Amino acid sequence: RSDLRQAYANAALVLADGAPVVWASRLLQRALPERVAGSDLVPALFEGCMNKNEPLRVFLLGAAPGVGQRAAANIHERWPNVEVVGIYSPPLGFENDPAENTRILRMIADADPQLLLIGLGAPKQELWVERHADQMQARVALCVGATIDFLAGEKSRSPLWMRRMGLEWFHRLATEPSRLAKRYLRDAWIFPQLVWREWRGARA
Ligand code: UDP
Repeated sequence: RSDLRQAYANAALVLADGAPVVWASRLLQRALPERVAGSDLVPALFEGCMNKNEPLRVFLLGAAPGVGQRAAANIHERWPNVEVVGIYSPPLGFENDPAENTRILRMIADADPQLLLIGLGAPKQELWVERHADQMQARVALCVGATIDFLAGEKSRSPLWMRRMGLEWFHRLATEPSRLAKRYLRDAWIFPQLVWREWRGARA
């Protein structure tokens, strides 16, 4: 997908969110140091601003209605120096509705966040940022998948030992089989082909 490739090319920071990506990087002898999931990065960022003088202003975009509010309550309790200045759960299909997109961008501009967390799932979130980056009034936008759900306690992270072994995907599959089985099957079919193509390309 050229549009997704473009979104990644334009991103200032691209992290490996899944263990298989890190495994593949080792196989291709371009080893990435480690997996950095959005759901680890965001709490670490929040933790890091606890001793700053100014609160960190955050906007939560995505997740089902009400989830952002629960996430904000938990954030407030755990990281009092993080201020959630805006929350919005866009309706289904919003990305194809120009008026709704304009409304969202206005909402973000009015809330004036430093950090915009976008939890719309991949690749919707990456494509949305790519399309609207120039009108987005936030210092940083991070695409973080289901992180808002994790912050809300809506979904659970896997035990630490599973994360260390690169098996968080298995935990997620076990907790949401009907939603994720199709996606993971498709990934398991396509990803090895991409790795194989890279591997062959590197040797050509
Ligand atoms: N989501 C959303 N709007 C959409 C599609 C998805 O807000 O149109 C949310 C969904 O509620 C969930 C997140 O996006 O909070 C995607 O979670 P997923 O598990 O797919 O993300 P991953 O971490 O696997 O990329």
